[in-house]
Amino acid sequence: GRVDNPYAGAKVYVNPEWSAKAAAEPGGSRISNQPTGVWLDRIAAIDGAGGSMGLRAHLDAALAQKGSNEEVVQLVVYDLPGRDCAALASNGELGPTEIDKYKTQFIDPIAAILSDSKYASLRIVTTIEIDSLPNLVTNTGSRATATPQCDTMQANGNYVKGVGYALAKLGAIPNVYNYIDAGHHGWLGWDDNFGPSATLFKQAATSEGATVDDVHGFITNTANYSALKENNFTVNDSVNGTTVRQSKWVDWNRYVDELSYAQAFRNQLVSVGFNSGIGMLIDTSRNGWGGSARPTGPGATTSVDTYVDGGRYDRRIHIGNWCNQSGAGLGERPQAAPATGIDAYVWMKPPGESDGSSSAISNDEGKGFDRMCDPTYTGNARNGNNLSGALPNAPLSGHWFSAQFQQLMANAYPAL
Ligand code: BGC
Repeated sequence: GRVDNPYAGAKVYVNPEWSAKAAAEPGGSRISNQPTGVWLDRIAAIDGAGGSMGLRAHLDAALAQKGSNEEVVQLVVYDLPGRDCAALASNGELGPTEIDKYKTQFIDPIAAILSDSKYASLRIVTTIEIDSLPNLVTNTGSRATATPQCDTMQANGNYVKGVGYALAKLGAIPNVYNYIDAGHHGWLGWDDNFGPSATLFKQAATSEGATVDDVHGFITNTANYSALKENNFTVNDSVNGTTVRQSKWVDWNRYVDELSYAQAFRNQLVSVGFNSGIGMLIDTSRNGWGGSARPTGPGATTSVDTYVDGGRYDRRIHIGNWCNQSGAGLGERPQAAPATGIDAYVWMKPPGESDGSSSAISNDEGKGFDRMCDPTYTGNARNGNNLSGALPNAPLSGHWFSAQFQQLMANAYPAL
């Protein structure tokens, strides 16, 4: 049977391919032994795309690393039809209607490999379909942030069906631990999004044969930059009688950091019918925001804006910015059971892998060019029409971005 927290008392798989890239960077050996997520981001990744390790090769390497210990392997299952409907940088290979191909050529082969008795001793953590269900909540219908692509995925139901199918198939394997992507506080932390997201996740988790018993937990902040814990202000603070929720940065959100959001969202999920034992993961790969620009105390109490902006660790121009953020640093090192309700801090996004290219680059991965990755872009409704805050000269999403890796190490918090 499954344990309550798969990370407790276990080592976590170090992806040798990521590790080699990290170690090849000046100073990279300080972190190249850290565990990171293995992204199954296309059908070809199952057998190994472009000469890289396939799923069996990773699981065999994990068995070798395991020895006589317990070992967690972290997989990201990421190939839904019409993927990344509110952005372009991680559009995938499957068109909006290709749900059958998703089931039979992506999920079924993954499930067949994970079911191999050879791998029964591994604790296999699967993080399910980053950004998809959150996009259905916030980027559809009458919202100013809606996109035609997200409306299509809402109407055809293929995100919900795909997530349900993945949960059911993978959840039938006794040593698989499914965690559904739950966005981050700067996305789903508003009242309009928080409750409806939990309700939609429940719907997905009870479709296509899945039940809530197929869900071990949820992951927040995957590949995002939201700070773990803002120590210089709380959402309950006010300045001269004005709540910080009225500041430009917080903008009426209920949460100002990932830890408070993940813990509160866990309770919300239980209240809509998920099991009371569910645990949360938080991706801390790039939310450290250290370095010399990190505030050392609260901002001036001139106004809610000076107070929040002077004190916040997260130094993004706008919290909706998501691509290769300038000034970011590595966050908390991966660790088990760091706080109440949290199964682990993880590095699901491998530090040094780009979020998207800064200009159009032709490719055979289905990846588009999203101007949120262009530092000269002045934004759209989803980032309040602000500058993108992206680093320049970035390669395609998933490709190695040395300059970003170096900045993440320089701005690590805790420092390296
Ligand atoms: C990309 C994937 C990549 C992943 C991890 C995503 O943004 O679309 O191809 O595997 O990041 O770096």
